[in-house]
Amino acid sequence: MHRTHTCGELRLADIGKTVTLSGWVQKSRDLGGMTFIDVRDRYGITQLTFNSDDDESLRAAARELGREYVIKATGTVIERSSKNSKIPTGEIEIKVSQLEVLNESKLPPFTIEDETDGGDDIRMKYRYLDIRRNPVKNSLLFRHKVTQEVRNYLSNLDFCEVETPYLIKSTPEGARDFIVPSRMNPGQFYALPQSPQTFKQLLMVGGMDKYFQIVKCFRDEDLRADRQPEFTQIDCEMSFVEQEDILNIFEGMTRHLLKNIHGIEIDQFPRMTFDEAMRTYGNDKPDIRFGMKFGELNAVAQHKEFAIFNNAELVVGIAVPGAAGYTRKQIDELIEWVKRPQVGASGMVYAKYEADGSLKSSVDKFYDQADLLKWAEVTGAQPGDLILVLSGPAHKTRAQLSALRMELGNRMGLRKPDEFAPLWVIDFPLLEWDEETGRFHAMHHPFTSPKIEDMPLLDTDPGKVRANAYDLVLNGNEIGGGSIRIHDKDMQALMFKHLGFSTEQAQDQFGFLMNAFQYGAPPHGGLAFGLDRLTAILGGQETIRDFIAFPKNNSGRDVMIDAPAIIAKEQLDELSISLSPVSK
Ligand code: ASP
Repeated sequence: MHRTHTCGELRLADIGKTVTLSGWVQKSRDLGGMTFIDVRDRYGITQLTFNSDDDESLRAAARELGREYVIKATGTVIERSSKNSKIPTGEIEIKVSQLEVLNESKLPPFTIEDETDGGDDIRMKYRYLDIRRNPVKNSLLFRHKVTQEVRNYLSNLDFCEVETPYLIKSTPEGARDFIVPSRMNPGQFYALPQSPQTFKQLLMVGGMDKYFQIVKCFRDEDLRADRQPEFTQIDCEMSFVEQEDILNIFEGMTRHLLKNIHGIEIDQFPRMTFDEAMRTYGNDKPDIRFGMKFGELNAVAQHKEFAIFNNAELVVGIAVPGAAGYTRKQIDELIEWVKRPQVGASGMVYAKYEADGSLKSSVDKFYDQADLLKWAEVTGAQPGDLILVLSGPAHKTRAQLSALRMELGNRMGLRKPDEFAPLWVIDFPLLEWDEETGRFHAMHHPFTSPKIEDMPLLDTDPGKVRANAYDLVLNGNEIGGGSIRIHDKDMQALMFKHLGFSTEQAQDQFGFLMNAFQYGAPPHGGLAFGLDRLTAILGGQETIRDFIAFPKNNSGRDVMIDAPAIIAKEQLDELSISLSPVSK
Protein backbone atom coordinates (compact mmCIF):
# COMPACT_ATOMS: atom_id res chain seq x y z
CA MET A 1 0.00 0.00 0.00
CA HIS A 2 1.36 3.42 -0.93
CA ARG A 3 -0.45 5.43 1.66
CA THR A 4 -2.88 5.24 4.54
CA HIS A 5 -3.31 9.00 4.76
CA THR A 6 -2.52 12.09 2.74
CA CYS A 7 0.18 14.56 3.74
CA GLY A 8 -2.44 17.09 4.84
CA GLU A 9 -4.55 14.91 7.03
CA LEU A 10 -2.97 13.92 10.35
CA ARG A 11 -3.75 15.77 13.58
CA LEU A 12 -3.19 15.37 17.35
CA ALA A 13 -6.10 12.92 17.44
CA ASP A 14 -4.08 10.53 15.30
CA ILE A 15 -1.24 10.22 17.79
CA GLY A 16 -0.05 6.67 18.21
CA LYS A 17 -1.29 5.48 14.83
CA THR A 18 0.98 3.68 12.44
CA VAL A 19 0.67 5.40 9.10
CA THR A 20 2.16 5.36 5.64
CA LEU A 21 2.53 8.56 3.62
CA SER A 22 3.74 9.08 0.07
CA GLY A 23 4.77 12.32 -1.54
CA TRP A 24 7.54 14.63 -2.67
CA VAL A 25 10.41 15.87 -0.55
CA GLN A 26 9.78 19.55 0.03
CA LYS A 27 12.93 20.02 2.07
CA SER A 28 15.19 18.24 4.47
CA ARG A 29 17.14 19.53 7.44
CA ASP A 30 19.86 17.72 9.22
CA LEU A 31 20.39 19.08 12.73
CA GLY A 32 23.10 17.00 14.28
CA GLY A 33 21.18 14.27 16.04
CA MET A 34 17.93 14.81 14.13
CA THR A 35 16.93 14.71 10.49
CA PHE A 36 13.65 16.31 9.40
CA ILE A 37 12.01 15.75 6.05
CA ASP A 38 8.96 17.68 4.90
CA VAL A 39 6.92 15.46 2.63
CA ARG A 40 4.34 17.10 0.39
CA ASP A 41 1.39 16.05 -1.71
CA ARG A 42 -1.64 17.88 -3.08
CA TYR A 43 -3.23 17.95 0.36
CA GLY A 44 -0.44 19.41 2.43
CA ILE A 45 2.88 18.86 4.13
CA THR A 46 3.79 16.54 6.98
CA GLN A 47 7.07 16.46 8.88
CA LEU A 48 8.97 13.18 9.05
CA THR A 49 11.61 12.75 11.76
CA PHE A 50 14.59 10.52 12.19
CA ASN A 51 16.81 10.64 15.27
CA SER A 52 19.90 9.15 16.73
CA ASP A 53 18.22 6.07 18.14
CA ASP A 54 17.13 5.12 14.64
CA ASP A 55 18.94 2.56 12.63
CA GLU A 56 21.95 4.24 11.00
CA SER A 57 21.07 3.02 7.51
CA LEU A 58 17.60 4.56 7.85
CA ARG A 59 19.10 7.89 8.88
CA ALA A 60 21.64 7.73 6.08
CA ALA A 61 18.86 7.09 3.60
CA ALA A 62 16.94 10.10 4.95
CA ARG A 63 20.00 12.30 4.66
CA GLU A 64 20.46 11.33 1.03
CA LEU A 65 17.00 12.42 -0.09
CA GLY A 66 17.07 15.28 -2.56
CA ARG A 67 14.39 17.88 -3.20
CA GLU A 68 11.41 16.50 -5.09
CA TYR A 69 12.36 12.86 -4.58
CA VAL A 70 9.21 10.73 -4.42
CA ILE A 71 9.18 8.78 -1.18
CA LYS A 72 7.05 6.44 0.88
CA ALA A 73 7.43 6.54 4.64
CA THR A 74 5.86 4.39 7.33
CA GLY A 75 5.99 5.34 10.97
CA THR A 76 4.15 6.41 14.10
CA VAL A 77 2.31 9.70 14.57
CA ILE A 78 3.81 11.57 17.54
CA GLU A 79 3.27 14.99 19.06
CA ARG A 80 5.77 17.62 17.96
CA SER A 81 7.79 19.30 20.64
CA SER A 82 8.07 22.53 18.69
CA LYS A 83 4.77 23.05 16.94
CA ASN A 84 4.22 24.89 13.66
CA SER A 85 0.97 26.84 13.75
CA LYS A 86 1.28 27.79 10.09
CA ILE A 87 0.30 24.39 8.73
CA PRO A 88 -2.69 22.21 9.69
CA THR A 89 -0.45 19.21 10.43
CA GLY A 90 1.93 21.37 12.48
CA GLU A 91 1.16 19.74 15.83
CA ILE A 92 2.31 16.27 14.82
CA GLU A 93 5.17 14.52 13.09
CA ILE A 94 5.89 10.98 11.94
CA LYS A 95 8.64 9.02 13.61
CA VAL A 96 9.68 6.98 10.61
CA SER A 97 10.50 3.29 10.77
CA GLN A 98 10.58 2.52 7.06
CA LEU A 99 11.60 4.71 4.18
CA GLU A 100 11.46 3.90 0.51
CA VAL A 101 12.51 6.02 -2.44
CA LEU A 102 9.82 5.55 -5.09
CA ASN A 103 11.59 7.78 -7.56
CA GLU A 104 14.51 10.14 -7.64
CA SER A 105 14.32 13.65 -9.02
CA LYS A 106 16.73 15.96 -10.74
CA LEU A 107 17.12 19.25 -8.92
CA PRO A 108 14.12 21.30 -10.12
CA PRO A 109 14.98 24.39 -12.23
CA PHE A 110 13.11 26.64 -9.79
CA THR A 111 12.03 26.36 -6.18
CA ILE A 112 8.72 24.67 -5.51
CA GLU A 113 7.59 27.37 -3.10
CA ASP A 114 4.67 29.81 -3.02
CA GLU A 115 7.11 32.56 -3.92
CA THR A 116 9.32 30.88 -6.47
CA ASP A 117 12.55 32.09 -8.00
CA GLY A 118 11.40 30.86 -11.43
CA GLY A 119 10.41 33.39 -14.10
CA ASP A 120 7.37 32.96 -16.33
CA ASP A 121 9.11 31.21 -19.19
CA ILE A 122 10.84 28.58 -17.14
CA ARG A 123 7.71 27.88 -15.14
CA MET A 124 5.73 27.36 -18.35
CA LYS A 125 8.37 25.04 -19.75
CA TYR A 126 8.21 22.93 -16.59
CA ARG A 127 4.53 23.49 -15.96
CA TYR A 128 4.19 20.10 -14.22
CA LEU A 129 6.59 21.37 -11.56
CA ASP A 130 4.79 24.70 -11.41
CA ILE A 131 1.55 22.83 -10.74
CA ARG A 132 3.16 21.39 -7.59
CA ARG A 133 3.27 24.93 -6.20
CA ASN A 134 0.35 26.05 -4.03
CA PRO A 135 -0.69 29.12 -6.03
CA VAL A 136 -1.11 27.15 -9.26
CA LYS A 137 -2.45 24.01 -7.63
CA ASN A 138 -5.00 26.02 -5.66
CA SER A 139 -6.09 27.89 -8.77
CA LEU A 140 -6.80 24.59 -10.54
CA LEU A 141 -8.71 23.32 -7.51
CA PHE A 142 -10.61 26.58 -7.43
CA ARG A 143 -11.52 26.21 -11.09
CA HIS A 144 -12.81 22.73 -10.37
CA LYS A 145 -14.99 24.15 -7.61
CA VAL A 146 -16.41 26.79 -9.95
CA THR A 147 -17.23 24.25 -12.67
CA GLN A 148 -18.75 21.91 -10.14
CA GLU A 149 -20.99 24.68 -8.79
CA VAL A 150 -21.99 25.56 -12.35
CA ARG A 151 -22.85 21.94 -13.09
CA ASN A 152 -24.82 21.66 -9.85
CA TYR A 153 -26.81 24.82 -10.45
CA LEU A 154 -27.67 24.06 -14.05
CA SER A 155 -28.32 20.36 -13.53
CA ASN A 156 -30.73 21.19 -10.70
CA LEU A 157 -32.65 23.33 -13.15
CA ASP A 158 -32.88 20.43 -15.64
CA PHE A 159 -30.19 21.64 -18.00
CA CYS A 160 -28.68 18.73 -19.90
CA GLU A 161 -24.98 18.72 -20.75
CA VAL A 162 -24.53 17.70 -24.38
CA GLU A 163 -21.26 17.45 -26.25
CA THR A 164 -21.08 18.99 -29.70
CA PRO A 165 -18.42 18.23 -32.32
CA TYR A 166 -14.98 19.80 -32.49
CA LEU A 167 -14.46 19.04 -36.17
CA ILE A 168 -16.88 21.34 -37.91
CA LYS A 169 -17.10 23.65 -40.90
CA SER A 170 -15.31 26.93 -41.38
CA THR A 171 -17.42 30.07 -41.67
CA PRO A 172 -16.18 33.54 -42.50
CA GLU A 173 -18.18 35.28 -39.73
CA GLY A 174 -16.47 36.14 -36.48
CA ALA A 175 -12.81 35.51 -35.77
CA ARG A 176 -10.40 33.40 -37.80
CA ASP A 177 -10.87 29.64 -37.59
CA PHE A 178 -8.29 27.04 -36.71
CA ILE A 179 -8.25 24.64 -39.62
CA VAL A 180 -7.78 20.86 -39.61
CA PRO A 181 -7.06 19.05 -42.89
CA SER A 182 -9.09 15.95 -43.68
CA ARG A 183 -6.97 13.02 -44.87
CA MET A 184 -9.98 11.11 -46.11
CA ASN A 185 -11.23 14.05 -48.11
CA PRO A 186 -8.17 15.44 -49.88
CA GLY A 187 -8.16 19.20 -50.23
CA GLN A 188 -10.95 19.59 -47.66
CA PHE A 189 -10.73 21.01 -44.20
CA TYR A 190 -12.56 21.01 -40.93
CA ALA A 191 -12.53 24.02 -38.65
CA LEU A 192 -12.41 23.93 -34.88
CA PRO A 193 -15.46 25.64 -33.37
CA GLN A 194 -15.22 29.25 -32.21
CA SER A 195 -18.27 28.31 -30.17
CA PRO A 196 -20.97 25.62 -30.43
CA GLN A 197 -23.45 28.33 -31.45
CA THR A 198 -25.22 26.66 -34.36
CA PHE A 199 -25.16 23.23 -32.73
CA LYS A 200 -26.83 24.45 -29.58
CA GLN A 201 -29.53 26.08 -31.69
CA LEU A 202 -29.98 22.78 -33.54
CA LEU A 203 -30.33 21.08 -30.14
CA MET A 204 -33.22 23.44 -29.46
CA VAL A 205 -34.79 22.45 -32.77
CA GLY A 206 -34.17 18.89 -31.55
CA GLY A 207 -36.30 19.60 -28.49
CA MET A 208 -33.51 19.44 -25.87
CA ASP A 209 -35.08 22.53 -24.26
CA LYS A 210 -32.28 23.35 -21.80
CA TYR A 211 -28.69 22.69 -22.80
CA PHE A 212 -25.31 23.50 -21.38
CA GLN A 213 -21.77 22.43 -22.05
CA ILE A 214 -18.45 23.29 -20.49
CA VAL A 215 -16.59 23.34 -23.72
CA LYS A 216 -13.35 24.30 -25.42
CA CYS A 217 -13.61 26.96 -28.12
CA PHE A 218 -10.90 27.99 -30.56
CA ARG A 219 -10.17 31.37 -32.11
CA ASP A 220 -7.14 32.05 -34.26
CA GLU A 221 -6.73 35.68 -33.35
CA ASP A 222 -3.61 37.74 -32.88
CA LEU A 223 -3.22 37.32 -29.19
CA ARG A 224 -3.93 40.31 -27.08
CA ALA A 225 -2.66 40.27 -23.54
CA ASP A 226 -4.24 37.55 -21.47
CA ARG A 227 -6.11 35.83 -24.29
CA GLN A 228 -5.76 32.17 -25.14
CA PRO A 229 -6.30 30.64 -28.60
CA GLU A 230 -8.22 27.83 -26.92
CA PHE A 231 -10.45 28.78 -24.05
CA THR A 232 -13.42 27.35 -22.21
CA GLN A 233 -17.01 28.48 -22.30
CA ILE A 234 -19.96 27.60 -20.15
CA ASP A 235 -22.25 27.47 -23.15
CA CYS A 236 -26.01 27.54 -22.56
CA GLU A 237 -29.23 27.60 -24.56
CA MET A 238 -32.92 27.44 -23.65
CA SER A 239 -36.18 27.08 -25.55
CA PHE A 240 -39.45 28.94 -25.03
CA VAL A 241 -37.76 31.85 -23.30
CA GLU A 242 -37.59 35.59 -23.56
CA GLN A 243 -34.66 37.77 -22.65
CA GLU A 244 -36.00 38.25 -19.14
CA ASP A 245 -36.01 34.48 -18.49
CA ILE A 246 -32.39 34.15 -19.56
CA LEU A 247 -31.27 37.10 -17.47
CA ASN A 248 -32.99 35.64 -14.42
CA ILE A 249 -31.58 32.13 -14.76
CA PHE A 250 -28.00 33.28 -15.30
CA GLU A 251 -28.13 36.05 -12.78
CA GLY A 252 -29.16 33.21 -10.49
CA MET A 253 -26.16 31.17 -11.56
CA THR A 254 -23.77 34.04 -10.87
CA ARG A 255 -25.40 34.66 -7.52
CA HIS A 256 -25.11 30.95 -6.73
CA LEU A 257 -21.39 31.09 -7.48
CA LEU A 258 -20.78 34.20 -5.40
CA LYS A 259 -22.69 32.70 -2.52
CA ASN A 260 -21.23 29.20 -2.61
CA ILE A 261 -17.69 30.29 -3.30
CA HIS A 262 -17.38 33.50 -1.36
CA GLY A 263 -20.42 33.56 0.88
CA ILE A 264 -21.40 36.85 -0.74
CA GLU A 265 -25.06 37.63 -1.30
CA ILE A 266 -25.90 40.14 -3.99
CA ASP A 267 -29.41 41.37 -4.63
CA GLN A 268 -30.71 42.07 -8.09
CA PHE A 269 -27.96 42.91 -10.54
CA PRO A 270 -28.18 46.41 -11.95
CA ARG A 271 -28.92 46.76 -15.65
CA MET A 272 -27.74 49.39 -18.06
CA THR A 273 -28.33 49.82 -21.76
CA PHE A 274 -25.38 49.72 -24.12
CA ASP A 275 -25.96 53.41 -24.92
CA GLU A 276 -25.96 54.39 -21.28
CA ALA A 277 -22.80 52.37 -20.60
CA MET A 278 -21.05 54.10 -23.47
CA ARG A 279 -22.23 57.53 -22.39
CA THR A 280 -21.47 57.17 -18.70
CA TYR A 281 -18.37 54.97 -18.79
CA GLY A 282 -17.19 55.11 -22.41
CA ASN A 283 -17.16 51.36 -22.35
CA ASP A 284 -19.58 48.47 -22.84
CA LYS A 285 -18.13 46.60 -19.86
CA PRO A 286 -17.87 49.24 -17.16
CA ASP A 287 -16.30 48.52 -13.81
CA ILE A 288 -18.92 49.92 -11.48
CA ARG A 289 -16.97 49.21 -8.30
CA PHE A 290 -15.98 52.87 -8.45
CA GLY A 291 -17.42 56.17 -9.66
CA MET A 292 -15.80 58.78 -11.90
CA LYS A 293 -18.79 58.68 -14.22
CA PHE A 294 -18.52 60.71 -17.38
CA GLY A 295 -20.02 64.17 -17.55
CA GLU A 296 -20.65 65.53 -21.05
CA LEU A 297 -19.56 69.14 -21.14
CA ASN A 298 -20.53 70.28 -24.64
CA ALA A 299 -23.34 72.50 -23.33
CA VAL A 300 -21.12 74.17 -20.71
CA ALA A 301 -17.81 74.35 -22.56
CA GLN A 302 -18.53 75.27 -26.16
CA HIS A 303 -19.70 78.86 -25.62
CA LYS A 304 -16.30 80.52 -25.29
CA GLU A 305 -13.38 81.17 -27.61
CA PHE A 306 -11.63 77.86 -26.94
CA ALA A 307 -11.41 76.40 -30.45
CA ILE A 308 -10.30 72.92 -29.40
CA PHE A 309 -13.52 72.37 -27.50
CA ASN A 310 -15.67 74.28 -29.98
CA ASN A 311 -14.53 72.07 -32.85
CA ALA A 312 -14.95 68.83 -30.96
CA GLU A 313 -17.87 66.48 -31.42
CA LEU A 314 -17.67 65.59 -27.73
CA VAL A 315 -16.23 67.32 -24.67
CA VAL A 316 -16.32 64.94 -21.74
CA GLY A 317 -14.83 64.85 -18.27
CA ILE A 318 -14.50 62.94 -15.04
CA ALA A 319 -13.99 64.07 -11.46
CA VAL A 320 -11.09 62.31 -9.79
CA PRO A 321 -11.95 62.11 -6.09
CA GLY A 322 -9.57 63.90 -3.76
CA ALA A 323 -7.06 64.68 -6.50
CA ALA A 324 -7.19 68.49 -6.48
CA GLY A 325 -3.89 68.42 -4.63
CA TYR A 326 -2.05 66.73 -7.49
CA THR A 327 1.15 68.58 -8.33
CA ARG A 328 1.88 70.01 -11.74
CA LYS A 329 4.24 67.10 -12.25
CA GLN A 330 1.59 64.51 -11.41
CA ILE A 331 -0.90 66.13 -13.76
CA ASP A 332 1.68 66.40 -16.55
CA GLU A 333 2.36 62.72 -16.14
CA LEU A 334 -1.34 61.97 -16.59
CA ILE A 335 -1.41 64.17 -19.68
CA GLU A 336 1.56 62.27 -21.10
CA TRP A 337 -0.22 59.03 -20.22
CA VAL A 338 -3.32 59.87 -22.28
CA LYS A 339 -1.11 61.07 -25.14
CA ARG A 340 0.66 57.72 -25.44
CA PRO A 341 -0.15 56.08 -28.78
CA GLN A 342 -2.00 53.25 -26.96
CA VAL A 343 -4.51 55.81 -25.67
CA GLY A 344 -4.15 58.44 -28.38
CA ALA A 345 -5.55 61.66 -26.88
CA SER A 346 -4.07 64.86 -28.29
CA GLY A 347 -4.15 66.65 -24.95
CA MET A 348 -6.08 67.04 -21.73
CA VAL A 349 -7.62 69.98 -19.92
CA TYR A 350 -7.90 69.98 -16.15
CA ALA A 351 -9.60 71.98 -13.44
CA LYS A 352 -8.79 71.75 -9.74
CA TYR A 353 -11.79 72.16 -7.49
CA GLU A 354 -9.99 73.43 -4.41
CA ALA A 355 -11.19 72.64 -0.92
CA ASP A 356 -12.14 76.33 -0.44
CA GLY A 357 -14.58 76.02 -3.35
CA SER A 358 -12.51 77.97 -5.88
CA LEU A 359 -11.65 76.48 -9.25
CA LYS A 360 -8.36 76.72 -11.04
CA SER A 361 -8.02 75.31 -14.55
CA SER A 362 -5.48 74.95 -17.34
CA VAL A 363 -7.83 77.01 -19.52
CA ASP A 364 -8.50 79.94 -17.16
CA LYS A 365 -7.95 82.26 -20.12
CA PHE A 366 -11.25 81.08 -21.58
CA TYR A 367 -13.41 79.99 -18.68
CA ASP A 368 -14.41 81.83 -15.52
CA GLN A 369 -15.45 80.48 -12.13
CA ALA A 370 -19.10 80.27 -13.11
CA ASP A 371 -18.22 78.16 -16.17
CA LEU A 372 -15.98 75.87 -14.17
CA LEU A 373 -18.63 75.45 -11.47
CA LYS A 374 -20.92 74.10 -14.18
CA TRP A 375 -18.21 71.64 -15.17
CA ALA A 376 -18.06 70.54 -11.57
CA GLU A 377 -21.80 70.11 -11.51
CA VAL A 378 -21.86 68.04 -14.71
CA THR A 379 -18.98 65.77 -13.67
CA GLY A 380 -20.24 65.52 -10.10
CA ALA A 381 -17.03 67.02 -8.73
CA GLN A 382 -16.84 67.99 -5.05
CA PRO A 383 -14.38 70.42 -3.50
CA GLY A 384 -11.06 68.58 -3.35
CA ASP A 385 -11.57 66.79 -6.68
CA LEU A 386 -9.69 67.13 -9.92
CA ILE A 387 -11.68 67.44 -13.15
CA LEU A 388 -10.03 65.94 -16.23
CA VAL A 389 -11.46 66.74 -19.65
CA LEU A 390 -10.88 65.22 -23.09
CA SER A 391 -12.39 66.29 -26.39
CA GLY A 392 -12.61 65.07 -29.97
CA PRO A 393 -14.62 62.57 -32.02
CA ALA A 394 -17.21 61.04 -29.69
CA HIS A 395 -16.35 57.36 -30.04
CA LYS A 396 -12.59 57.76 -29.73
CA THR A 397 -12.76 60.31 -26.94
CA ARG A 398 -15.01 58.06 -24.87
CA ALA A 399 -12.57 55.19 -25.31
CA GLN A 400 -9.67 57.42 -24.24
CA LEU A 401 -11.43 58.72 -21.16
CA SER A 402 -12.49 55.19 -20.29
CA ALA A 403 -8.85 54.06 -20.46
CA LEU A 404 -7.88 56.94 -18.18
CA ARG A 405 -10.69 56.17 -15.75
CA MET A 406 -9.60 52.53 -15.49
CA GLU A 407 -5.96 53.52 -15.07
CA LEU A 408 -6.89 55.88 -12.25
CA GLY A 409 -9.12 53.20 -10.74
CA ASN A 410 -6.12 50.87 -10.68
CA ARG A 411 -3.67 53.45 -9.39
CA MET A 412 -6.01 54.62 -6.65
CA GLY A 413 -6.75 51.07 -5.51
CA LEU A 414 -10.44 51.40 -6.32
CA ARG A 415 -10.61 48.07 -8.14
CA LYS A 416 -10.68 45.82 -5.10
CA PRO A 417 -10.32 42.15 -6.01
CA ASP A 418 -12.52 40.96 -3.16
CA GLU A 419 -15.41 43.22 -4.12
CA PHE A 420 -17.82 41.97 -6.78
CA ALA A 421 -19.94 44.30 -8.88
CA PRO A 422 -21.95 42.47 -11.54
CA LEU A 423 -23.92 44.35 -14.15
CA TRP A 424 -26.11 43.44 -17.12
CA VAL A 425 -25.50 45.49 -20.21
CA ILE A 426 -28.54 45.15 -22.49
CA ASP A 427 -29.88 46.47 -25.79
CA PHE A 428 -26.68 46.09 -27.76
CA PRO A 429 -26.76 47.32 -31.34
CA LEU A 430 -27.55 44.54 -33.82
CA LEU A 431 -24.97 45.67 -36.34
CA GLU A 432 -21.64 47.34 -36.25
CA TRP A 433 -19.96 49.13 -39.14
CA ASP A 434 -16.66 47.66 -40.18
CA GLU A 435 -14.31 50.20 -41.74
CA GLU A 436 -12.07 47.55 -43.24
CA THR A 437 -14.71 45.68 -45.22
CA GLY A 438 -16.99 48.69 -45.68
CA ARG A 439 -20.06 46.82 -44.51
CA PHE A 440 -22.13 46.07 -41.47
CA HIS A 441 -21.25 43.03 -39.38
CA ALA A 442 -23.34 41.35 -36.73
CA MET A 443 -22.16 42.82 -33.44
CA HIS A 444 -22.92 39.60 -31.56
CA HIS A 445 -23.48 37.02 -34.28
CA PRO A 446 -25.79 36.65 -37.29
CA PHE A 447 -28.30 34.52 -35.36
CA THR A 448 -29.20 37.29 -32.95
CA SER A 449 -32.72 38.59 -33.10
CA PRO A 450 -33.32 42.31 -33.62
CA LYS A 451 -35.83 44.09 -31.42
CA ILE A 452 -39.08 43.85 -33.30
CA GLU A 453 -39.85 47.53 -32.79
CA ASP A 454 -36.54 48.47 -34.43
CA MET A 455 -37.08 46.31 -37.51
CA PRO A 456 -38.20 49.19 -39.77
CA LEU A 457 -34.80 50.84 -39.20
CA LEU A 458 -33.05 47.90 -40.88
CA ASP A 459 -33.63 49.55 -44.23
CA THR A 460 -33.22 53.18 -43.23
CA ASP A 461 -30.63 53.33 -40.44
CA PRO A 462 -29.25 49.82 -39.80
CA GLY A 463 -26.67 51.03 -37.27
CA LYS A 464 -29.52 52.12 -34.96
CA VAL A 465 -31.26 48.75 -34.79
CA ARG A 466 -31.02 47.26 -31.31
CA ALA A 467 -30.72 43.55 -30.65
CA ASN A 468 -32.10 41.33 -27.94
CA ALA A 469 -28.51 40.87 -26.88
CA TYR A 470 -26.94 41.17 -23.45
CA ASP A 471 -23.62 40.86 -21.67
CA LEU A 472 -22.94 40.07 -18.07
CA VAL A 473 -20.13 42.26 -16.81
CA LEU A 474 -18.21 41.59 -13.61
CA ASN A 475 -15.67 44.06 -12.28
CA GLY A 476 -15.00 45.60 -15.67
CA ASN A 477 -14.80 42.34 -17.58
CA GLU A 478 -17.32 40.79 -19.92
CA ILE A 479 -17.82 37.39 -18.36
CA GLY A 480 -20.79 36.32 -20.42
CA GLY A 481 -22.84 37.31 -23.40
CA GLY A 482 -25.70 36.07 -25.47
CA SER A 483 -28.93 36.84 -27.21
CA ILE A 484 -32.41 35.80 -28.12
CA ARG A 485 -32.07 34.08 -31.48
CA ILE A 486 -33.90 34.32 -34.71
CA HIS A 487 -36.03 31.18 -35.06
CA ASP A 488 -37.88 32.06 -38.21
CA LYS A 489 -36.28 31.03 -41.49
CA ASP A 490 -37.43 34.09 -43.44
CA MET A 491 -36.14 36.41 -40.77
CA GLN A 492 -32.82 34.55 -40.74
CA ALA A 493 -32.61 34.85 -44.54
CA LEU A 494 -33.34 38.57 -44.26
CA MET A 495 -30.59 38.96 -41.69
CA PHE A 496 -28.05 37.24 -43.94
CA LYS A 497 -29.12 39.57 -46.73
CA HIS A 498 -28.51 42.61 -44.52
CA LEU A 499 -25.12 41.22 -43.61
CA GLY A 500 -24.19 41.17 -47.28
CA PHE A 501 -24.60 37.44 -47.95
CA SER A 502 -26.03 36.39 -51.30
CA THR A 503 -28.78 33.75 -51.11
CA GLU A 504 -26.26 31.18 -52.40
CA GLN A 505 -23.61 32.14 -49.83
CA ALA A 506 -26.13 31.97 -47.01
CA GLN A 507 -27.35 28.59 -48.25
CA ASP A 508 -23.83 27.30 -48.69
CA GLN A 509 -22.63 28.29 -45.23
CA PHE A 510 -25.71 28.10 -43.09
CA GLY A 511 -28.09 26.01 -45.18
CA PHE A 512 -28.20 23.36 -42.44
CA LEU A 513 -29.58 25.89 -39.96
CA MET A 514 -32.07 27.42 -42.39
CA ASN A 515 -33.24 23.91 -43.31
CA ALA A 516 -33.68 23.03 -39.66
CA PHE A 517 -35.74 26.17 -39.19
CA GLN A 518 -38.26 24.72 -41.64
CA TYR A 519 -39.10 21.98 -39.18
CA GLY A 520 -40.58 23.82 -36.27
CA ALA A 521 -37.80 25.73 -34.49
CA PRO A 522 -38.97 26.89 -31.05
CA PRO A 523 -38.29 30.44 -29.85
CA HIS A 524 -34.94 30.17 -28.11
CA GLY A 525 -32.01 32.07 -26.71
CA GLY A 526 -28.95 31.65 -24.58
CA LEU A 527 -25.56 32.87 -23.66
CA ALA A 528 -22.04 31.75 -22.96
CA PHE A 529 -19.75 32.57 -20.07
CA GLY A 530 -15.99 32.64 -20.41
CA LEU A 531 -15.00 30.13 -17.75
CA ASP A 532 -11.32 31.07 -17.61
CA ARG A 533 -12.03 34.74 -16.99
CA LEU A 534 -14.97 34.08 -14.67
CA THR A 535 -12.78 31.83 -12.55
CA ALA A 536 -9.92 34.31 -12.48
CA ILE A 537 -12.19 37.15 -11.37
CA LEU A 538 -13.91 35.04 -8.74
CA GLY A 539 -10.42 34.08 -7.64
CA GLY A 540 -9.55 37.76 -7.30
CA GLN A 541 -6.98 37.70 -10.11
CA GLU A 542 -6.73 39.70 -13.30
CA THR A 543 -4.93 37.09 -15.39
CA ILE A 544 -6.39 33.80 -16.54
CA ARG A 545 -3.13 31.91 -17.01
CA ASP A 546 -2.81 30.30 -13.64
CA PHE A 547 -6.35 29.01 -13.82
CA ILE A 548 -5.48 27.03 -16.94
CA ALA A 549 -3.41 23.89 -16.38
CA PHE A 550 -1.41 24.14 -19.58
CA PRO A 551 -1.77 27.61 -21.08
CA LYS A 552 -0.19 28.96 -24.24
CA ASN A 553 2.13 31.93 -24.28
CA ASN A 554 1.54 35.25 -26.03
CA SER A 555 2.67 33.85 -29.36
CA GLY A 556 0.18 31.01 -29.06
CA ARG A 557 2.91 28.49 -28.25
CA ASP A 558 2.92 25.71 -25.75
CA VAL A 559 6.55 25.96 -24.72
CA MET A 560 6.40 22.75 -22.70
CA ILE A 561 5.49 20.41 -25.54
CA ASP A 562 6.88 22.83 -28.13
CA ALA A 563 3.77 23.26 -30.25
CA PRO A 564 2.97 24.22 -32.92
CA ALA A 565 5.66 22.27 -34.74
CA ILE A 566 6.68 21.26 -38.20
CA ILE A 567 5.32 17.92 -39.39
CA ALA A 568 6.99 15.33 -41.57
CA LYS A 569 6.74 15.46 -45.35
CA GLU A 570 5.02 12.04 -45.38
CA GLN A 571 2.35 13.36 -43.06
CA LEU A 572 1.80 16.36 -45.32
CA ASP A 573 1.66 14.14 -48.38
CA GLU A 574 -0.93 11.96 -46.73
CA LEU A 575 -3.00 15.10 -46.20
CA SER A 576 -2.44 16.21 -49.80
CA ILE A 577 -0.84 19.40 -48.53
CA SER A 578 2.17 20.92 -50.20
CA LEU A 579 3.90 23.81 -48.51
CA SER A 580 5.61 26.62 -50.27
CA PRO A 581 9.00 27.19 -48.67
CA VAL A 582 8.79 29.39 -45.60
CA SER A 583 11.35 32.16 -45.54
CA LYS A 584 13.02 32.50 -42.18
N1 ASP B 1 -21.90 31.78 -28.96
C1 ASP B 1 -21.82 33.08 -28.38
C2 ASP B 1 -20.35 33.45 -28.11
O1 ASP B 1 -19.48 32.62 -28.23
C3 ASP B 1 -22.58 33.19 -27.09
C4 ASP B 1 -24.06 33.08 -27.30
O2 ASP B 1 -24.63 33.88 -28.05
O3 ASP B 1 -24.67 32.22 -26.66
O4 ASP B 1 -20.07 34.56 -27.75
